[in-house]
Amino acid sequence: MLFTSIIGHEFQKEALMRAVNENRVSHAYLFFGPDGVGKKLVAIELARALNCYNTGNKANKKKITINECDCISCKKIKKGIHPDVFLIEYGGVKDIKVDQIREELEERLYFKPFEGRFKVAIVDEAHRMNLNAQNAFLKTLEEPPSDSVIILITSQPQALIPTIRSRCQSIEFKPLPEESVFEEIKKREDLSPDESVIASRLSGGSLGRALSLDKELLQERKEIIMKLSDINPNSASQVLDFVESMPRGSSPRDIDRLMFIFDIISLWLRDMVLIKIGFSEDFLSNRDLISLTRRLADGWSMDNILNKIKFLEKTWYAVFRGNANKQIALENLVLGIVD
Ligand SMILES: [Zn+2]
Repeated sequence: MLFTSIIGHEFQKEALMRAVNENRVSHAYLFFGPDGVGKKLVAIELARALNCYNTGNKANKKKITINECDCISCKKIKKGIHPDVFLIEYGGVKDIKVDQIREELEERLYFKPFEGRFKVAIVDEAHRMNLNAQNAFLKTLEEPPSDSVIILITSQPQALIPTIRSRCQSIEFKPLPEESVFEEIKKREDLSPDESVIASRLSGGSLGRALSLDKELLQERKEIIMKLSDINPNSASQVLDFVESMPRGSSPRDIDRLMFIFDIISLWLRDMVLIKIGFSEDFLSNRDLISLTRRLADGWSMDNILNKIKFLEKTWYAVFRGNANKQIALENLVLGIVD
């Protein structure tokens, strides 16, 4: 079946398939939910279902039962070269401007479909349309060209003007279950099972985020935790050495990597809480560090561990959202955790 290669979102996929089969597809959809959960993939599959040569044959009422359909239409859509299916992206510029909406969306939508049954316009990161662009877009929504379907994709629906939202059929996409992310990561990435567990735990239900995690750091996770737990709080040089080894620059990559180290430490401290409460080892994130984690958790009180987690969170805000001196904040953090 179409949509089956996309993980999760069973209810949403089924509702869309039914709409296609029953010929009552809405002229505009708003797909909203966190980044990296598959909204764009579902939009592309919907474009495929609407134009697939094997689904539109009303004479034999053929339902959508093709998986890897390789009709010409499906092939072109998958390759991104179908003349009736177009993707509008913001492409790293400041925002989607009114000219882009006019040229890439309006002008193209008002032609009859060239070879498909429907024109499908997918606007990715729709919240990046500036106000002028949104107003221009609203005009299109008010008089939708026939044989066309517009799909807005966004993680921030509240950034769209209410009149846009009310004219679209909204479909919410939830974070994916952790097990689904784990299974996907195992299939797609060259990571150990322990690293795949960590990646799925840190994904927040977004496969996109799990796939974009810094693999190098992920593989250094065990070493980072072992080095951290080995620090003698009375040795200033050991604390300094550890801080020196952390990415402290201001490039986006360094910031991402430092945030990732905070996440790694946070998961590890949470493992200690789970051990204290008596959870089985299956629930722990760092399964390859169980004896070390258990030993430290035994030596610390629950209050102590919870305070360390609070301190970690406070430092996160001070470093990434405030303007704390990074060096001093990190030195204090490392001391606060190992002491
Ligand atoms: Zn097809």
